[in-house]
Amino acid sequence: MTEFYFKMSGYIFFPSSQNKIQHWCSFWQAFYGNSFTFAQIIKKSIKMTGNITFTMIKPKAMENGNMGKIIAKIIEGGFKVKALKLTSLTKEQAMEFYAVHKERPFYNGLTDFMSSGPIVAAILEKDNAIKAYRDYIGATNPSDAEEGTIRALYGTSIEANAVHGSDSDENAQIEAGFFFSKREWV
Ligand code: ATP
Ligand code: MG
Repeated sequence: MTEFYFKMSGYIFFPSSQNKIQHWCSFWQAFYGNSFTFAQIIKKSIKMTGNITFTMIKPKAMENGNMGKIIAKIIEGGFKVKALKLTSLTKEQAMEFYAVHKERPFYNGLTDFMSSGPIVAAILEKDNAIKAYRDYIGATNPSDAEEGTIRALYGTSIEANAVHGSDSDENAQIEAGFFFSKREWV
């Protein structure tokens, strides 16, 4: 069955270079083992490219003078800064950014807070960036966050928890696009 998928993908996408695609597929098949279908291999390859996350330093951490310390801590953690911006959100922009939470009781307070002062927005790169960064910043509520994490160090409440971190590869791209054009990435 697996071979059938490989052959068909060769015929459908590259009818004139079927030999090449078969070699390519054999390579991936050898690499991943025989139990994967072509679709699963592609899905796995896409997941492996998840090396980007998006973060914001939230207004209270900025007000408390922790911008520099948080950026230094992010870099110390092995995250490479791909884009960086000192900016602020209007109430409308905060509502759009957090639209996924619009039914939650904290939505209005959160969007008031996020539009209350300057923030830093940044795109970060590291292997397995989403999980690596969420582990590094700690739990949503700073009082539950592991010692030494950014939220434990610089968060002051569940709302003012120092930083945001994307929760999926897809959202990292959407959130990065919310603040940065491709020209602003290094
Ligand atoms: P973030 O998305 O900011 O990285 P998270 O993924 O840990 O945080 P979410 O559930 O996505 O947590 O909540 C988004 C943000 O909403 C939190 O970072 C926090 O600022 C705020 N928030 C979450 N829960 C509450 C709550 N119970 N009361 C007040 N604010 C909250
Ligand atoms: Mg979240």
